[in-house]
Amino acid sequence: MGTWGHVASYYAATANRDLAFPPLHGSVRADVCVIGGGYTGLSAALHLRERGYDVVLLEAERIGWGASGRNGGQVGTGQRRPQSELEQRLGTGHAKLLWDLGLEAVELVAGLVERHGIDCDMAPGILHLGWKARDEAGYRDEIEHLGSAYGYERMRLVPRDEARSLCGSEVFAAGLLDEGSLHLHPLNYALGLAAAVEKAGARMHEGSRVISYAGNDRVRVRTAQGEVDAAHVVLACNGYLGGLEPRVASKIMPINNFILATEPLDEATVAGINPRNLGMQDSRFVINYWRLSRDNRLLFGGGENYSPRFPADIRSFVRRHMLEIYPQLAGTRIDYGWGGTLAITLKRMPAFGRLPHNVFYALGYSGHGISTATLAGKLLAEAVAGTAERFDVMAKIPTAAFPGGTLLRHPGLVAGMLWYGLRDRL
Ligand SMILES: Cc1cc2nc3c(=O)[nH]c(=O)nc-3n(C[C@H](O)[C@H](O)[C@H](O)COP(=O)(O)OP(=O)(O)OC[C@H]3O[C@@H](n4cnc5c(N)ncnc54)[C@H](O)[C@@H]3O)c2cc1C
Repeated sequence: MGTWGHVASYYAATANRDLAFPPLHGSVRADVCVIGGGYTGLSAALHLRERGYDVVLLEAERIGWGASGRNGGQVGTGQRRPQSELEQRLGTGHAKLLWDLGLEAVELVAGLVERHGIDCDMAPGILHLGWKARDEAGYRDEIEHLGSAYGYERMRLVPRDEARSLCGSEVFAAGLLDEGSLHLHPLNYALGLAAAVEKAGARMHEGSRVISYAGNDRVRVRTAQGEVDAAHVVLACNGYLGGLEPRVASKIMPINNFILATEPLDEATVAGINPRNLGMQDSRFVINYWRLSRDNRLLFGGGENYSPRFPADIRSFVRRHMLEIYPQLAGTRIDYGWGGTLAITLKRMPAFGRLPHNVFYALGYSGHGISTATLAGKLLAEAVAGTAERFDVMAKIPTAAFPGGTLLRHPGLVAGMLWYGLRDRL
């Protein structure tokens, strides 16, 4: 398979498409230059092509090389923060629009998978699992509120005994099952989107890192070996933005998150830990999340760090989180361990916006990116086309710069994150 250049992961080993795109050489013109080949950039390119724009997409590494090819595969409804919090912060009208966009985002993912025949193991249902007895009351309130204020009826409370039989772990006090959420193989979803983008007629280039861009009416986007002269730029680099655009970089903090894949489990073990093939995630601040692969491996995500480096032994780093929940897997072999970088914002809501001249961006999905980044691409295409009402629902969410900007954002934030991580364990 064409997975050279991807990090070694279960996903890269099971990629089901062999796509490759040549680096950009020389000067080309386009209506829109999209920078970044994850869900944000791919969805933007696809929706722009559907509107008739001439699109060039530049990816520094490989399509799906970033978080989009490495994540937990959990496609959640709503936004990253609870609706009740958004109502208080932003008002009920704005919160309602955000809820609707959150639902549209999941439907968009499901619709793209169906329309483009993307083979990515998509299945319904995410079970949220609470560690503490008080989580049950919290789940009950959320279900009641989403039902009465938003008419959302696809969530139900899962009492302790049922939660334990659905997840095969004794540690949880209660659960909330959201039948409207999905889970999927993230890299195969990204590669399926890329195939749709190629078919739609966008030009894509891998190994084409953008070094800088500048301009007024038209923007010149430069790579080491080429240049795109475009009327608009879509910035879709999320946690890998680096120093390319300091005006946006100060709004996000890149953090690393890690996943392992066990050996394939036998049928009895699978029936014991996930008989309904659900996606699962827990109530920790540093969230644990897991699901089964097509060949019955446990794909378990847990643990993060905030430094430029990944832990030397990712498998052991994640395994201790897995064993807290599944001590019965102590003898199970771990076949893969990998990490990826995502962008979080101070308030854990995404940052959408536009810069002079003609540059649109969306990033900072804070771990809720599969649906939101896919929708972001659609909203970016609408904004480029001059119909920005829905883009502005997202862009109007206040985004604060991290204190100290890009240089100093780490020390204070890291201390804060470590404190919350510690609190999980108390
Ligand atoms: C381990 C992990 C687990 C996660 N789990 C989940 C989950 O279960 N559910 C969920 O919803 N979200 C999850 N997320 C978050 C989700 O993966 C991201 O929010 C989403 O993939 C972001 O997509 P994107 O296209 O914006 O960014 P990315 O997929 O990161 O793509 C950005 C791309 O931009 C490219 N790029 C950067 N700079 C340049 C440049 N100068 N020139 C050209 N190209 C450039 C990069 O190479 C990269 O390919 C997880 C993330 C990680 C890391």
